[in-house]
Amino acid sequence: MRINSETELYAIIGDPVEHSVSPIMQNVAFRHLDLNCVYLAFQVKPSNLKGAIEGLKTLGIRGFNVTIPHKVSVMKYLDEVDSKAVEIGAVNTVLNRNGKLIGYNTDGAGALEALRAEGAVLDGGKVILLGAGGAAKALAFALSPLTHCLVILNRTESRAVLLASEIATMFDIEVTGRVLTREILIEELENTDIVINATPVGMHPKTDVTLLRRNLIRSDMTIFDLIYNPPETLLIREAKAAGAKWINGIKMLVYQGALSFQIWTGASPSSEEMLRVVEMSLGVR
Ligand code: NAP
Repeated sequence: MRINSETELYAIIGDPVEHSVSPIMQNVAFRHLDLNCVYLAFQVKPSNLKGAIEGLKTLGIRGFNVTIPHKVSVMKYLDEVDSKAVEIGAVNTVLNRNGKLIGYNTDGAGALEALRAEGAVLDGGKVILLGAGGAAKALAFALSPLTHCLVILNRTESRAVLLASEIATMFDIEVTGRVLTREILIEELENTDIVINATPVGMHPKTDVTLLRRNLIRSDMTIFDLIYNPPETLLIREAKAAGAKWINGIKMLVYQGALSFQIWTGASPSSEEMLRVVEMSLGVR
């Protein structure tokens, strides 16, 4: 990799950020297209977010990703936010266009691409979304044009109800927001085609938990766990044991990153190369 005074800077900001695989993935994509760009990870504490954004802008950063816990709070420090990201209420990608910082959200489109790449059938079926946080919101907006029934189950009932009412005002589908309990989950699983875990339950370091056990999973279901660390969560193991189709969070990570790359550079990166290095760094290959 050449680094000189022309090298363009890209980054990810978050807290924590040290385990992020985005630098490996984006730097490989830059190298593959022979672009003189470098992508770094910066740990930014919530109390330093405003200063960090001002600093990145002053230094002429070309673009950056935003991860937990800044996806919502970053919006107030940007010059513009794309209408999709405003709907979702969260930004994961920022482009510096002639000194103006513009926010986008690629999580929903990345998740849809992952579902399609794995052959999940989205044609008008029933989807259960576990969670009502930033990722769940992005998924809910992306999936709603493609399903006829969406059920949002969340630990905090009010957030599920609020997200369902937002979806109901924008899409002509059957949508419900309910509290996540075992009884309600069992009731809603009937006729469900796809279950999506958009909560951190099962994520490193607390990997021995799942919201759904194999006895509740049918072999004709698709289980999509947004978690990629570990690549095989307990939920994915339970889905495999039940004979269901399963999708982990790796492809979503790669596709949302590839979409960020396109927003920044206008070029299409090699998502195969990005997937290869992500899988290697997560010990899957
Ligand atoms: P978030 O905004 O903090 O939302 C977390 C959601 O999970 C909330 O709905 C929360 O419920 C729920 N939750 C948290 N702990 C729970 C528990 N113990 N039991 C039940 N529900 C619980 O986080 P996020 O950004 O949406 O991320 C959610 C997950 O998606 C994370 O695992 C993240 O790594 C993953 N993700 C993956 C990708 C990818 O590219 N693969 C991209 C984005 C996110 P309350 O409302 O009750 O707090």
